[in-house]
Amino acid sequence: MQLEELYRRLLRFYGPQNWWPADTPFEVVVGAILTQNTAWKNVEKAIANLKREGVLDPETMLRMSDDALRELIRPAGFYNQKTRRLKAVCRLIVDSGGVEELFKLPVDVLRGTLLSVKGIGPETADAIILYAAGKPTFVIDRYTHRLFVRLGLWRGGYNYEGIKAFVEGQLEPSVDTYREFHALIDEHAKRTCRKTPLCISCPLTDLCPKHGVC
Ligand code: SF4
Repeated sequence: MQLEELYRRLLRFYGPQNWWPADTPFEVVVGAILTQNTAWKNVEKAIANLKREGVLDPETMLRMSDDALRELIRPAGFYNQKTRRLKAVCRLIVDSGGVEELFKLPVDVLRGTLLSVKGIGPETADAIILYAAGKPTFVIDRYTHRLFVRLGLWRGGYNYEGIKAFVEGQLEPSVDTYREFHALIDEHAKRTCRKTPLCISCPLTDLCPKHGVC
């Protein structure tokens, strides 16, 4: 199966997802860190706290005490770790001359720069590059791996860089397509191709070797 066909099917079935829900690129950066190991509804509460207190900008967050920041992001969980990660990315942004300056870097350089920040791994870095910087890099996650394995598109374990190279080798680099496709894969994984899949309501049954046996 071609990935373009998979993308078209998911888009037709679920409709545009229009990720990422945020008012500014910096809000996307914060959301990408806060969403590590937690559900999005918890991230929304933490971001609402940051907005209510008027601190959702890198300079202000850097100036805040760790205790104050920790309290505001508490709903997102792992708040000690995430406080350190947010401060580290704010430091990077401020030292780079702001979000816009940082995002002027070429994709590969920007990716390497983000990955050098402790606590930012490939998934978070790629989410920031794609959804905040608006540059084409595909975001892989566990949902992508699970779906691709079930569809017979990927064999073997979770290999972030390998699966990313597989997708980018098949799809033209397009920010809009990459954004939608990643969002659609996650939507499909949450609603239909769950841990225990709901194959009966799946738009991919004719393409899926697992259909009828899972
Ligand atoms: S048919 Fe079942 S296993 Fe295959 S993609 Fe659909 S939900 Fe997932």
